[in-house]
Amino acid sequence: MARYTGPACKLCRREGLKLFLKGERCLTEKCAIERRAYPPGQHGRGRIKQSEYLTQLREKQKARRYYGLLEKQFRGYYEKASRREGITGENLLRLLEQRLDNVVYRLGFGASRAQARQLIRHGHFAVNGRRVTIPSFQVKSGDELTLKHERAKDIILSATDLVASVPAWLQADHENLSGKVVRIPERDEIDVPVQEQLIVELYSK
Ligand code: SF4
Repeated sequence: MARYTGPACKLCRREGLKLFLKGERCLTEKCAIERRAYPPGQHGRGRIKQSEYLTQLREKQKARRYYGLLEKQFRGYYEKASRREGITGENLLRLLEQRLDNVVYRLGFGASRAQARQLIRHGHFAVNGRRVTIPSFQVKSGDELTLKHERAKDIILSATDLVASVPAWLQADHENLSGKVVRIPERDEIDVPVQEQLIVELYSK
């Protein structure tokens, strides 16, 4: 599946906050947000005319970039979320959180979602004993994640050093490099700086 391959730090600067797209670098003073905290481009420091549409668009772009998705993929999640019972915005975030690349990142086995995605693509992880190479694979409650082989063990171990905490809906064993999905997350357990209602308003126009 296609993915964004352009400069990651530009995306954070555009959104005006750290999206943690580059692993260890994001935690150092080399982070572009620390050094140039204004939007990229020639008119980056100019005045931007605010509007309701722009606020909604920025919120959607922020969420999309946070999870590393292209527009079509993100829209697909929205469509799926709107067909489910419950609050569409919360459904959307839940679907995004249940992606395997996000789970690997949240467990601390990838320094960023991009690295988690690559590790999955290269077949380093198994869900319930079966190798899964699809980053968008949706995990469910009770799923167990293990390392399929030892080849990337060093990379994964150094990623675990970066993780401050693992969310309560997941259980991580950093010694044995395994994890478990304890439950599907509630909205207050999803740590994303996004107002999902604005995304729903944007797409339902
Ligand atoms: Fe964003 Fe990380 Fe780049 Fe900082 S270093 S701007 S958090 S991707």
